[in-house]
Amino acid sequence: MPILADRESRLLIDGKLVAGSSGTFSTVNPATEETLGVAADASVEDMSTAIGAARRAFEETDWSTDTALRVRCIRQLQDALSKHVEELRELTMSEVGAPRMLTSAAQLEGPIADLSFSADTAENYQWRIDLGIASPMGIKTQRTVAREAVGVVGAITPWNFPHQINFAKIGPALAAGNTVVLKPAPDTPWCAAVLGELITEHTDIPAGVLNIVTSSDHGVGALLSKDPRVDMVSFTGSTATGRAVMADGAATLKKVFLELGGKSAFLILDDADLAGACSMAAFTASMHAGQGCAITTRLVVPRNRYDEAVEAAAATMGGLKPGDPTNPGTICGPVISARQRDRIQEYLDSAIAEGGRFACGGGRPADRDVGFFIEPTVIAGLDNTAKVAREEIFGPVLTVIAHDGDDDAVRIANDSPYGLSGTVFSPDLDRANSVAARLRVGTVNINGGVWYSADLPFGGYKQSGIGREMGLAGFEEYLEIKALATAAQ
Ligand code: NAD
Repeated sequence: MPILADRESRLLIDGKLVAGSSGTFSTVNPATEETLGVAADASVEDMSTAIGAARRAFEETDWSTDTALRVRCIRQLQDALSKHVEELRELTMSEVGAPRMLTSAAQLEGPIADLSFSADTAENYQWRIDLGIASPMGIKTQRTVAREAVGVVGAITPWNFPHQINFAKIGPALAAGNTVVLKPAPDTPWCAAVLGELITEHTDIPAGVLNIVTSSDHGVGALLSKDPRVDMVSFTGSTATGRAVMADGAATLKKVFLELGGKSAFLILDDADLAGACSMAAFTASMHAGQGCAITTRLVVPRNRYDEAVEAAAATMGGLKPGDPTNPGTICGPVISARQRDRIQEYLDSAIAEGGRFACGGGRPADRDVGFFIEPTVIAGLDNTAKVAREEIFGPVLTVIAHDGDDDAVRIANDSPYGLSGTVFSPDLDRANSVAARLRVGTVNINGGVWYSADLPFGGYKQSGIGREMGLAGFEEYLEIKALATAAQ
């Protein structure tokens, strides 16, 4: 059955698809500003019921101990997603505004395939490690280290890569034996709500193990950080909200896992191919209208070639006109909402107020008065103290900053409250690696390498987060460690 035939969405609570107690709210196509339809609007009471269901499923079923069941269920979900991938692609273009070109690797097929990593890891994981016999304090003891699920996980996700982030949380959380309440962003409720029908119709996931709660009210998600029945919150979103999640979780000393914002730097060393590297930086900053937490938004270039770098970046970025996300040639679609578009415009205005200039772009495209579009923009003439160099804009905006050599480039890159990602370009690999080693960030791209894959941990230093998503480290975030000491003969 087509999952989008009936465009009504429901919550998934305790194995049942149910209406939201607060009615419905609209979901909008950011490229056309048309209302696509409505999503279920959960109340705080609905969220409480979902948490109760997840708690009961964790306590009363064998989900957390039956690895074979979990592996089978994750593979069933993966199969169901794969069968509906074309419908999901239409949904991703219309609800997220994601360009068709980006829907496969980063938004859909890639993340769906990555669910195998969670299933395989659970299947092959060493759940108990025998440390053998020792005599601590003179008592002969058999020691074992056991790993087990944390418990009930609240997963709170943003709108920019909704499937990727939803799957990167529910995959390892479920594989590790937890039960989950997923709370997606209000901007992209359908991307999560469609999972409800796939789960109930195509998987053996027991009732209460995975609950999906859409809501227009951020406060509904906040219950996940506050409720004592939730053991862990896995959050991806802005640093400001991450702080609120951590503060709310403090009362019950919840385990918090945070993937937050970034202001990543693209460092071009003085021996690199300047034009090629600038072009790549400009292309990256325009993808999905710059709505990626790890996109490099500060282009840090040798001072004596600054004008050349600005020109090269503007030549690429000025040519990437924002367009219809369904068009196969579009790389820069709309931003998610009028609120985001207006926020980006305020940042652009601040750049001019601080003495900067636009080498290309600078506002809304003249030929698009419908849709939340912003022109890919290169800002020149500012240093790393400018507001646009310090704060996350989350739009297609690249600020070019001059450096005076490798030490200065590293200083500029690290002079940020964030520490998510970075890029280094130099044909001298020793030099590039030495710079990469000095960057206080969680991922580094050297000369165009790709750090995104199921087995590579992703996450941030400093105010970009706590913990790692993906990879073995990402799986182990969802585990507790238990030491068992048995008196031996
Ligand atoms: P956001 O912080 O506004 O919202 C994220 C989620 O948190 C949404 O589901 C929202 O409803 C919920 N939320 C809001 N207030 C809450 C509260 N007080 N308690 C609990 N939940 C609450 O972020 P956004 O605008 O949806 O997404 C953009 C941000 O996400 C950017 O800052 C971006 O860098 C970041 N992001 C980070 C990563 C990463 O892996 N580091 C990935 C994607 C996006």
